Amino acid sequence: MQYFSPSTIEEAVELLSSGPNRRVFAGATDVVPQMRSGRPAPEGLIDLKGIARLTSVVNNGSMWVIGAATPTVRLTTNPDFVALFPGVAEAAGLIGSDQVQSRSSLGGNLCNSSPAADSVPALVANGARAVIASGSGTRTILVQDVPTGPGRTSLAPGEFIVEFELDHPPAHSGDAYFRLTPRTEMDIAVVGAGARVNLDANGNIASALLALGAVAPTVVRVPDAEAALTGAAVVDGSPSEEVLAAVTAAASAACNPIDDKRGTIKYRRHVAGVLARRAVIMSIARATAR
Ligand SMILES: Cc1cc2nc3c(=O)[nH]c(=O)nc-3n(C[C@H](O)[C@H](O)[C@H](O)COP(=O)(O)OP(=O)(O)OC[C@H]3O[C@@H](n4cnc5c(N)ncnc54)[C@H](O)[C@@H]3O)c2cc1C
Repeated sequence: MQYFSPSTIEEAVELLSSGPNRRVFAGATDVVPQMRSGRPAPEGLIDLKGIARLTSVVNNGSMWVIGAATPTVRLTTNPDFVALFPGVAEAAGLIGSDQVQSRSSLGGNLCNSSPAADSVPALVANGARAVIASGSGTRTILVQDVPTGPGRTSLAPGEFIVEFELDHPPAHSGDAYFRLTPRTEMDIAVVGAGARVNLDANGNIASALLALGAVAPTVVRVPDAEAALTGAAVVDGSPSEEVLAAVTAAASAACNPIDDKRGTIKYRRHVAGVLARRAVIMSIARATAR
């Protein structure tokens, strides 16, 4: 196997297209275990961590730009980032262990395309965008449009993710990510739920985004829950029980889960409703506190 360590995006683009069966990687916390478990190894691995732009975290005033190969620990330990995007930081902080987080990246978490990837629902709930490079330049798409199924993405051969863009949330806005695992750590989600809620000047819900992980082949948005929340009054930190029931029901209905050793279809549907409700309530509490 050949190992390449480009220092520019152009060099990485050229390397990716100039040889057969080449793959990019960042932390290799998915790539190496997969090769060790017998999956076919690529002929060439292109290390993205030597490219400065792919490991930088920049707040440019209107948005945060996070290099796709940035170790996720750089997000969980950045107080300014955590203050604006606690839900994304929570999700990043659930990936494996301290050791894993010193290597794991958002780009790898997304492009490994596991339905249970923790950072993806949190990014989707924040409307995050992925900037993608190839020989023909760059293009930008919503993070939710990258995974197309387990282990599959919408990226064309020769493309890789350069960075993620997260718009600054408005005032009185909060996000949250909750997941359920059978063990307290070092396990993958039975269900994950990410939410972002924006409040209006009266403290009622102006808009909301809700995304679920591990309940379908790809991350799932829950438009019926978002519609039920939009315009809802908030009293004592919560929408009415009727609105919360609609959120719970919509989240359960949006699932298309599998039965496996971590949970049955029925259990996953139930847990999705519970976590969606909790993520919304936590998002409202954070939005109120900002
Ligand atoms: C012990 C352990 C525990 C774990 N626990 C969790 C967990 O709790 N939650 C969770 O979500 N994950 C977990 N993981 C999985 C893994 O750590 C994450 O998915 C991580 O974010 C992957 O990032 P990486 O940079 O290491 O990816 P890599 O292994 O470098 O790459 C993964 C895939 O993405 C592709 N890729 C990487 N970067 C890019 C890019 N910029 N553009 C295009 N394609 C790219 C690679 O070609 C590869 O197919 C765990 C892994 C281990 C080993």
